[in-house]
Amino acid sequence: MTNASPGGVTETEWSAAVDAVRGLTPGPDGDEVQLICHVNPDGDALGSMLGFALALRERGITRLRATFPGDFELPTPYQDLPGVELLVPEPEAFRAPALVMTFDVAAESRLGDLVALLRAPCVVVLDHHASNTRFGQVNLVDPRAAATSVVVDGLLSRLGVPLDAAIAECLYVALATDTGSFKFDMTTPEVHELAARLIAAGISPGDISRRIFDTRPFGAMKLAGEVIGRATLDPTAAGGQGMVWTYATQADLARHDQRPYVLDTLIDPVRGVAEADVAVVIKETPQGDWSVSLRSKGAVDVSRVAVSLGGGGHRLAAGFTGHGTPEEVAATVKGLLAANLI
Ligand code: 5GP
Ligand code: MN
Repeated sequence: MTNASPGGVTETEWSAAVDAVRGLTPGPDGDEVQLICHVNPDGDALGSMLGFALALRERGITRLRATFPGDFELPTPYQDLPGVELLVPEPEAFRAPALVMTFDVAAESRLGDLVALLRAPCVVVLDHHASNTRFGQVNLVDPRAAATSVVVDGLLSRLGVPLDAAIAECLYVALATDTGSFKFDMTTPEVHELAARLIAAGISPGDISRRIFDTRPFGAMKLAGEVIGRATLDPTAAGGQGMVWTYATQADLARHDQRPYVLDTLIDPVRGVAEADVAVVIKETPQGDWSVSLRSKGAVDVSRVAVSLGGGGHRLAAGFTGHGTPEEVAATVKGLLAANLI
């Protein structure tokens, strides 16, 4: 029995991906394989990519590297993931690998300069974003999957790779982060069934959750207090269903001596505001523009909002890069909400 969501990926595509992996020559003189996940990698991007990397290594694929575009910096909670030693900075990626596989990458724009590697003879895309642009030769894209790790599990089971504790830890981190600790709408029976198999492989969900979700530096907590303290509620947005928004600057990060990734979880308390369907967190990037996180409780398709602003994501969780002041970014988003009511 395979456990990937049926329907999202055709049997032809599964077979093509299985053939691409089975066709690799293992060993020190074998084929080079480059794995890539998206810029500013999150738990699903890293966990899916490293989980699959470990499986390839166990199959004897030793010319194997994993990377992501941009600064070679991992959020602290992910620095101890199994397989992290396979990660290399972007400039150390293979130049002409036989096979490229991408994880949780919805569009070429999320690959930065690594987009050049899409010239490889074979590119396999593993993803679950409905907005995926299907830029590979083989596209394992299942919008019904709660996480890219569900797609990875589907491929591993078709390859006959058993889940050991190391692979399971990577896939569990990926699944737990993208389902918001098994809270979001995508938390299907299949998600819990996969979680059960991952736990049965010998991982400690309590330890993993504490590390990934419930541990932060004191400065990050103080910073969160400030950012939440300056949130604005606009009850007129989204046809009267409301929008709550806030922002964080590079200066805020510097004042509390924190790295940018600590801002990524601030959307969670903001989205909990009862008076707003839509939550927006506007985070200044080192380049001076804004990485914008959008969430909806169900009234607005924020993926359409994000796509119209050059970004992407899922119906109820999406993002894009904004420009101007935070007030201008918030006004731009507000201006698009009413037209994208579900
Ligand atoms: P987050 O707000 O957690 O950064 O992202 C929410 C969702 O939107 C994720 O699925 C993420 O992949 C997607 N997303 C965020 N920013 C961008 C962007 O700039 N471009 C695209 N294509 N997707 C994005
Ligand atoms: Mn994902």
